[in-house]
Amino acid sequence: MEPLNISNLLTLSISTDGIPICKSTGLGMWPILMKVDQVRAAGPYLCALFSGETKPSSISEFMKPFLDELTNLESVGIEFGGVHYSVRVSSVIADAPARSFLKAIKGHTGYHSCERCIDDGEWCSNRVVLSTTSASKRTDGAFRNMIDFDHHTNVSPLNVLRIDMVSQFVLDYMHLVCLGVTKKLLLSWLAGPLGVRLPSRSVKKISEYLFNCKKFFPNDFSRKPRSLKDVHRFKATEFRQFLLYTGVTALHGILDEERYKHFLLFHCGLKILLTDKASVKEWNYLARLLLEKFVGLIPKLYGNQFLVYNVHNLLHLADDGTNFGNLENVSAFPFENFMQILKRMIRGQRLQLEQVVKRVKEQV
Ligand SMILES: [Zn+2]
Repeated sequence: MEPLNISNLLTLSISTDGIPICKSTGLGMWPILMKVDQVRAAGPYLCALFSGETKPSSISEFMKPFLDELTNLESVGIEFGGVHYSVRVSSVIADAPARSFLKAIKGHTGYHSCERCIDDGEWCSNRVVLSTTSASKRTDGAFRNMIDFDHHTNVSPLNVLRIDMVSQFVLDYMHLVCLGVTKKLLLSWLAGPLGVRLPSRSVKKISEYLFNCKKFFPNDFSRKPRSLKDVHRFKATEFRQFLLYTGVTALHGILDEERYKHFLLFHCGLKILLTDKASVKEWNYLARLLLEKFVGLIPKLYGNQFLVYNVHNLLHLADDGTNFGNLENVSAFPFENFMQILKRMIRGQRLQLEQVVKRVKEQV
């Protein structure tokens, strides 16, 4: 990703994801959200909203009005307070299915799905697994020219934007790390294959530890630790809390030494990438090494079938640290929170999309 040396520059983070609004009918919303990076205090804004019983069938139709407006902003900029600002997109933040939809590429469970390298994957235990090392890196030029034909399903309408179609699509850590690898590790310890699964007395000890931590937890955390009985209902922030804070002590003496040290590689790598040192060369290199070692030991400790898309992509996470600094700068957390606010705007069973649009207009 090339640094942008433009004076009076406004950069935008873009995000989109689906949110269910009615379980019985399957009705959901797909908002397109935007955040101005230079105005950190301001939350995301709603730019466009789609509602239907399935996700939008045509990516071009879904994105067109938004992209028309955005390409115009990129070419003419904006006047504000008598000052002219240039506008660029800094990042696109979405989960893996939404990214594959936006980029018109293979889904994350398929072959040729890695967005950062040309690893083609192989079939193992009823799933596609990727390798423990990075293959040749994908580039913006190779993506736009569709050099790896097997990676693409179509031409992405986002090609019209002045963005790097590889590096500016962030490997959002909320989905990849918290709801992805951390949850996968926890579920393996609770109900994984023999040899990986923990005895029920060990699981009970972890739950008791988490429960006892509860009363000492500061209010800076939006949620207090809770028993692993509730792990299927854990929110992303609770997996984050386990990875970065409680897991290190909760697992000590419970996991065997090799798996415990292996967990620490993951913990330390993410600890670095979730600080402002993430883009500092030496720290970034250390995080990269820790995560490479973590992924490299996966086949030995958890089996080849564990090497799914999310685990492999830990190899590429330090690149986002180099490009964006602290991964919190480009996480889906604020967008996810905003989508919950949009959902709470719906009161009745009818005309849900119209209700949201009216409530948003009232707040402008
Ligand atoms: Zn890769």
